[in-house]
Amino acid sequence: MSATATAAPVNEDRSFFGHPRGLATLFFTEMWERFSYYGLRAILVFFLSASVANGGLGMDKPLASSVVSVYGAAIYMSALAGGWIADRLLGSQRSVFYGGLVIMFGHVCMALPFGSSTVWLGLALIIVGTSLLKPNISSVVGSLYSKTDARRDAGFSVFYTSINIGSFVGQLVTGYLGEKVNWHVGFGAAAVGMAIGLIQYKLGARHLGNAAAAPSNPLTPEERGKAFTRIGMAVAGVAVVLVIMQLTGTLDAHGITNAISIAAMVLPVIYFAVMLRSPKTTKIERDRVKAYIPLFIAATLFWLIFEQAANVLNIYADERVEKTVFGWEFPASWFQSVNPMFLVLFSPIVAMIWLKLGQRQPSTPRKFAIAVASVGLSFGVLALAAMLTGPDARVSPLWLLLVYAIQTVAELLLSPVGLSMTTKLAPAAFLSQMMGMWFLATSAGYGLAAQIVPFYSAENEIPYFGILAICAVALAVLLWIGTNRVRKLMHGVS
Ligand code: GLN
Repeated sequence: MSATATAAPVNEDRSFFGHPRGLATLFFTEMWERFSYYGLRAILVFFLSASVANGGLGMDKPLASSVVSVYGAAIYMSALAGGWIADRLLGSQRSVFYGGLVIMFGHVCMALPFGSSTVWLGLALIIVGTSLLKPNISSVVGSLYSKTDARRDAGFSVFYTSINIGSFVGQLVTGYLGEKVNWHVGFGAAAVGMAIGLIQYKLGARHLGNAAAAPSNPLTPEERGKAFTRIGMAVAGVAVVLVIMQLTGTLDAHGITNAISIAAMVLPVIYFAVMLRSPKTTKIERDRVKAYIPLFIAATLFWLIFEQAANVLNIYADERVEKTVFGWEFPASWFQSVNPMFLVLFSPIVAMIWLKLGQRQPSTPRKFAIAVASVGLSFGVLALAAMLTGPDARVSPLWLLLVYAIQTVAELLLSPVGLSMTTKLAPAAFLSQMMGMWFLATSAGYGLAAQIVPFYSAENEIPYFGILAICAVALAVLLWIGTNRVRKLMHGVS
């Protein structure tokens, strides 16, 4: 975050419902970006697995499911790189703009009906663009407020709402266009959404002042050479892996999926080791990083289940759920909009409960334990539906609504709490990287899921959902029992 940002007059501005006017600019930018991201995600598994005759890529469903998971893993993993580029090279404001531009071109590629090469290029561009936009737009939100500004948390809540409004509408629009008209028209709608977001960002940029405009920790000329050598080495490392995969005949969708899965799981381990061993980390900070590990593992398992919405639950909605109303079958992907809708409805209620409970509200590890148990319970509900109906019958849509309702409550217990806990437990020297670390939990969850989701089929729903539910509840119990030990390591942070 820019040191100059705190001096900017935007901090005193109250022209957007009591918040700085710049928040409106960021609100609509993030809304349109999430419109495009979730819009594409809602139909990706159907597009990849549709036959070529039906305009798809003709992949078998288990592989298509895995590809959707590793796409998510790569999206959240890349946030680390985007944060670094903003901190050291571009500043957050410019990163957001360039990121949005690259995302838009990614969706344009997806909109072109030229077969698989434009699809892979499109997805790669969206990953690169999102790495620049997603983590950095949050930094700009933070920079609109001074450190002591009481409106800060409320500002982030307003911002989280924009994510869910964009996701809600985006998935209805692209879901309908993709499934009922043409896949590429659906992807085109995502491109148009991102374009509107960008125009709006440019027009409203003046309201951001200099909030996070400059890099917070720019590379000095001496550091530049070293940094670029390291980047060169990393690129060369990836190139070597690709060459080895090519030579061993594994450079295909399966091989790339496995490679991203492994990276998503290994990266957090390396990162934790670096933070724990760094001489810049003090004794208390080291304890706090240790406290973060069980919470990180819980978050990984949470996202592993939660983020199966776009593949396993989408396929479930398509194949297993009754979707005809008044003789018209609505698109299966419309179920994707249920979670963001519930989120917007439930978040004021949860906020009120926390306010009422005040000091009596559960500690962060306890909230995490309840969230993980709940997300497990949501899969338990699906196992129960399978026991009651068998693999051939279709189930009432109410089952899926119940599943998403439980998952949304769980999300509210873990996702916003996790964001604020991350900033509190971060060692001073790793402040911005720790935010990237939080997104690595989603990435690791997706990466692990990529290896699990191929096992889903209508015939094995009871063991599939049942085993994951049991794992989640077991981990939640362990975390609940270990809460006091974790809290001790947190040294006063709750
Ligand atoms: N739904 C939220 C978003 O899109 C959080 C997702 C996550 O961290 N896995 O930003």
